Amino acid sequence: MFKFLKIIFFGIKDIIRIKKRNNKKYTAKERIEICEFCNHFKPKTRQCGICWCFMDIKTKIKNKSCPEDKW
Ligand code: SF4
Repeated sequence: MFKFLKIIFFGIKDIIRIKKRNNKKYTAKERIEICEFCNHFKPKTRQCGICWCFMDIKTKIKNKSCPEDKW
């Protein structure tokens, strides 16, 4: 249940952030590279340790963003 609420929370946070987004744009390849060097990244499952999204998928979705504002 907590995990579900966390996913909803970060989804809403993403939507708010999109509206405030500045001009920095990264390609999906650049995004995944940033994740791979991030200490929250779980290499075994390739998930983010904060939002628990699967980063190989999330980084390819244009309007998604990093919960830590790294991309
Ligand atoms: S989405 Fe952000 S916080 Fe999560 S692993 Fe990638 S760079 Fe790190």
